Amino acid sequence: MTENETLFREVNERVEDTTAGFVDAGEGSTQEYFCECANADCTFRVTLTHAQYASVRADPRQFVVLPLHFTPEVETLVSKNEGHWLVRKTGEAGDYVEKLDPRSRSPSVQKP
Ligand SMILES: [Zn+2]
Repeated sequence: MTENETLFREVNERVEDTTAGFVDAGEGSTQEYFCECANADCTFRVTLTHAQYASVRADPRQFVVLPLHFTPEVETLVSKNEGHWLVRKTGEAGDYVEKLDPRSRSPSVQKP
């Protein structure tokens, strides 16, 4: 069931990549991102500022969902905000999404 969240996270990362380059995409400008909840049929969007999105992605286990799109079996509620909630994957789901984190796939990581 975590495949869906990681899929939408990949899509959102691409959205962020293509819009972040625009001149008017300042810290306060908003962007629509896909809801990253556990429901594979959910294609609703959440509106975040680029700064808000960046703070979600700062933690590889964190996902942004619409209010009430929360699955207590696999995640904990981090915070409730106007128009979106932040959730954090726990247990096996957390390990899985952390492994697939698009931002930790750096080829330059070197082991000592
Ligand atoms: Zn959803």
